[in-house]
Amino acid sequence: MVAIPDFSAGAMENWGLITYRETALLYDKTQSSFLNKERVAEVIAHELAHQWFGNLVTMKWWSDLWLNEGFATFMASLGVAEVEPTWRADRNYAVDNILSVLTLDSLESSHPVSVPIDDPKRISEVFDEISYRKGSTLIRMMTMFLGEEIFKKALHNYLVKYSYQNAEQDDLWRELTAVSQEYGGLARNVSVKEVMDTWTTQTGYPLLTVSRDYSQNSLTVTQKRYLALNSRSPTTSSWWVPLRVLCASDAQDSNEPIEWLAANEGVTTEHRFEHGADPDEWVLFNADMIAPYRVNYDKGNWELLIAALNSKHTSVPVLGRVQLLSDAFALAWTNQLDYNIALQLANYLKRESEYLPLSTGLKALAKIENVIKRTPDYGAFQKFVRKLIGETYFKAGGLATKKIINGDDLNSVKLQTATSAWACRMKVPGCEENAIELFRSWMETDNPDENNPIPLDLRRTVYCVAVSRGSVLQWRFVLARKQRANVAAARDALLHALTCTREVWILTQYLEWAITDETEVRRQDAAAVIVSVTHSTVGYYVAREFIYNRIQDIYNAFNSEGRRLGGIIKALLEQFTTQRELDEFLKWRENNSKYLEDAKLSVNQAIEKATVNIAWLNKNRRSVVERLRELSK
Ligand SMILES: [Zn+2]
Repeated sequence: MVAIPDFSAGAMENWGLITYRETALLYDKTQSSFLNKERVAEVIAHELAHQWFGNLVTMKWWSDLWLNEGFATFMASLGVAEVEPTWRADRNYAVDNILSVLTLDSLESSHPVSVPIDDPKRISEVFDEISYRKGSTLIRMMTMFLGEEIFKKALHNYLVKYSYQNAEQDDLWRELTAVSQEYGGLARNVSVKEVMDTWTTQTGYPLLTVSRDYSQNSLTVTQKRYLALNSRSPTTSSWWVPLRVLCASDAQDSNEPIEWLAANEGVTTEHRFEHGADPDEWVLFNADMIAPYRVNYDKGNWELLIAALNSKHTSVPVLGRVQLLSDAFALAWTNQLDYNIALQLANYLKRESEYLPLSTGLKALAKIENVIKRTPDYGAFQKFVRKLIGETYFKAGGLATKKIINGDDLNSVKLQTATSAWACRMKVPGCEENAIELFRSWMETDNPDENNPIPLDLRRTVYCVAVSRGSVLQWRFVLARKQRANVAAARDALLHALTCTREVWILTQYLEWAITDETEVRRQDAAAVIVSVTHSTVGYYVAREFIYNRIQDIYNAFNSEGRRLGGIIKALLEQFTTQRELDEFLKWRENNSKYLEDAKLSVNQAIEKATVNIAWLNKNRRSVVERLRELSK
């Protein structure tokens, strides 16, 4: 295994010589944060898994790229969980993967896991979240509905049978079905292929709508594709959906058997289930996030769930809390649920001390933040979030302690770093002041390249606050440290900090460096720098002009690598909040289409996302801000 400077991807699983970007392999305990360490473990595990999935057995064609990337991603979570059990990598990565699938795959312009590829130019673009994360999510789903023993045995057969050969997804389905049949088969006699084809050959995932009949102890379920933007042409997709239904009285026992909603059920008529919940008990679907789907309930059940979370949130399992927060905000976003419900649900986060649900809630709020951060309503948003996270921020250690309070516990470190970053951005009193104070003590150190008093895991936040609130002095100090930094992880944090400045002329220069040879920004980091500037409040305006005016140079700098350019366009359009901005982009695209040829998929997804954001603002901004104001009184 070797680390290579100027390596464009994360890593490459070459048989006999695995190559890595420096930050994905090199770890130095005096320079790398806990998150850096976790990333190194994850990437190494991913590349090692490729020795079987990809190298020993190779996909027949790019359309089944997910057999490589999905498996490597899934096996990485098991590998890391085995080596470092306290990190809970299996659970954490599963949640990360599902949440990002739920976002990207709600776009009409997403694509199926198993995707037809008829042009080499399209290949780079399918190395995306669908192949990696949805692939991995679906594999995890299979281990859950088949059982680990059956899954392992079938996978063993598959790897032996196709060693040094090529395989496609049907080959995998065959092995899984064969072993599953030895053990009596799946419930309802469905084959693995029947189930999985609905997930790998169709784009998207279902929204289940659950209505309870409180007097009959029964409920009905319907399914249809969940879309971020209501489609003019109704979709006809449907899925074999694995269901595990939890109710208040059996919440601690998660071994409920899996039931199926068949692909033809709940489509044109409501499908009825019996269940044992009393009328005053909540029911919860997908409490262990077995598959990527969303669930909406009748108002009564939402209210029972809100009451449970706000009285004793631990009565709902951790992944159930994640699923609920994610669903409530997504459904409210698409006008399928009242924002009152989503925000009341989120209110319990004041007492949440688990990183996963808290970060899920914050991610959902970040989506709202993203579209209102440049409007006069941002203050109301900040006030609401301050109330939500203020207490947790201080309890988790914050910035005032000037140290990581529980450095061996990854959950706790993540909680402290995430709440610190949010607290400073939301202007929790003292947060920015503490960051600036920490940074000043670093600047005053005799040998700042050797001695850095800022705790490793808080450096990104502290640097960014200090550079954004500071002047060219702080910026030059960071630049000088970056020039002398020896460890890639440290250099990376500094490189990012430089994008936090609000000085327009410095940002312009920084962007210029990103596409020029022999400057402070190496080519491997260029896209990340441009994306990071684009995401920042002031930087957005600078980056937009830069991208519009310099597209030819940007294109040349990335050697027409579609994925990099696509990422930049996505970052840009994510910031759009007005139709005027979108129209301007569409017009610009007409004249520059030759540069965007290899990033078509990303560009289409970016346009759809921007359309969604603009529609949301027009429809919801006023009412949501009103609710935020009321709730933070
Ligand atoms: Zn890979």
